[in-house]
Amino acid sequence: MAYEYEPACRRMEWLDPFYKAVWEEAFAKAIPISGTFELTPRCNFQCRMCYVHLKEEEIAKQGKELTAKEWIQIAKEAKEAGTTWLCITGGEPFLHPEFEEIYKAVSRMGFFITLQTNASMIEQYRTLLEEYPPRSVKITLYGSNNEIYEAVCKVKNGFSRVDRGIQILKEMKIPVQLVSTIVRQNADDIKRMAFYAYVNQLPWLANGGIRLSVRGGDNKEISDSRIVLETDKERIRYLLEHDVVSPEGKPCTYCKDYRLGYWITWDGKMRFCSFMNEPNISVREKGFPHAWQSLVQYEEQLEWPEECKSCNVQKACVKCAATLTSECGSPHHVREEFCNRIKQYYDEEKGEWRL
Ligand code: SF4
Ligand code: SF4
Repeated sequence: MAYEYEPACRRMEWLDPFYKAVWEEAFAKAIPISGTFELTPRCNFQCRMCYVHLKEEEIAKQGKELTAKEWIQIAKEAKEAGTTWLCITGGEPFLHPEFEEIYKAVSRMGFFITLQTNASMIEQYRTLLEEYPPRSVKITLYGSNNEIYEAVCKVKNGFSRVDRGIQILKEMKIPVQLVSTIVRQNADDIKRMAFYAYVNQLPWLANGGIRLSVRGGDNKEISDSRIVLETDKERIRYLLEHDVVSPEGKPCTYCKDYRLGYWITWDGKMRFCSFMNEPNISVREKGFPHAWQSLVQYEEQLEWPEECKSCNVQKACVKCAATLTSECGSPHHVREEFCNRIKQYYDEEKGEWRL
């Protein structure tokens, strides 16, 4: 029987046909082919817009990092359940106290690993990465010089360290992708970051959509640094022009991870999305297969808040489960301030738009 909603891959004409076929199959059978292990909230940078980074004393207050033994057990079960693409991230993943043990074990299991890092510690781990090269490394690039890094990430010589890491990975012929979050402090540096990517012949993605944190980040700092207005307006314009939002759709159904991907937080909770603070499915207690079943059930059951169902700007609303969580505190409620902002942008621009 055909499933009620379409997999996101059908909207991606550019996707490799092999991957598309695997995606369709995984979606139909709800196989967790793609996962993220967020090893730690530790980081040696202190980026203003970070939603996950915690200081040592805050970690102990909020939970307990999984040990190498626990991550390795989860990885074994994930592999058996069908996980093929695995992203290892943080915070800064190299800072998990048992990083090397975890990384070696998951590499030996044969996952297609993407390592997501700020690249400042690549030099230290060069031998390990030579021995176990990841399939790709996704690097957060926050500026094109040390001054911008100091303004965004509050570290000295940040760019020099990141650039050194990138050059080492290039020497090792490991594919690198650069991703930049644009905030007030680096907005004027965009062209130079693009030029850096160009001269290094690396793919580069820039993103201005910053979310408030429900996971311990400093929301005053995040609000002060984010550039919301223009990016929100652009997204509203895109939604209307491409007729993306279907009022019948459920919150998770728009997302590429729906029915085939998951995120495991540093303290062992399986979630649909890193920006959310629910569900709290403990992989440690339930084991991977049951945790995955519970996550799929959560995705099926999650509904838009009642206010959205009768809202007359819903086709233009930039909301998703994560946006509602970060802007309204939960995916089950709306906050007047958030809705008023959407309605204001809509009113300002609707004359030019097709509805
Ligand atoms: S480098 Fe990444 S994890 Fe570390 S503080 Fe910056 S955004 Fe957060
Ligand atoms: S504006 Fe508010 S009520 Fe309307 S769809 Fe968006 S979040 Fe829901």
